Amino acid sequence: MRFADRIGVVRGDITALDVDAIVNAANSGLRGGGGVDGAIHRAAGPELLEACRAIGGCPTGEVRVTPGFRLKAKHVIHAVGPVWHSGHGGEPELLASAYRQALDAADKLAARSVAFPAISTGVYGYPLDAATAIAVATVCAFLREHAVPERVIFCCFSEPAEAAYRRTLSNLGD
Ligand code: ADP
Repeated sequence: MRFADRIGVVRGDITALDVDAIVNAANSGLRGGGGVDGAIHRAAGPELLEACRAIGGCPTGEVRVTPGFRLKAKHVIHAVGPVWHSGHGGEPELLASAYRQALDAADKLAARSVAFPAISTGVYGYPLDAATAIAVATVCAFLREHAVPERVIFCCFSEPAEAAYRRTLSNLGD
């Protein structure tokens, strides 16, 4: 099987997906917030915030794992992407690290399917095309080397995000 066959793009709400793990675009305080973070906390229930409080926090570029509580997903992998400033503050490396660590966590959890939102492209202001290129490149590199997760889904909330992912994946030329 080609590794590209292990990647899917869907448009919709990540909290509704029936996957083993979903990735949250979290903030470093793991306090919940707006955007996809708020949606995940609402859907998972108050136990999620309690679990995050017990962990305390998470540096940018890293991840922490909690149960999914009321979500269909068994696990939530909280990944902290960078806030976009100029692009010269290590943002690309930090975004790639957030994706890589999330994939590594999924592998360790034996999560066969994992869904990602477009980390950092909302309130954190990362330009969509640049963030998409990093997300796709990092996932492809990981899947080439690892059998788990078997399947990665890029869950896009907006039409422009979906278009960016489809364009980037079709340009892989594989
Ligand atoms: P960040 O602070 O990392 O930028 P945001 O939550 O503001 O995080 O945005 C990240 C991405 O998640 C954006 O592309 C946004 O459109 C998307 N998003 C917002 N709500 C959802 C949701 N329920 N499911 C999937 N993606 C979502």
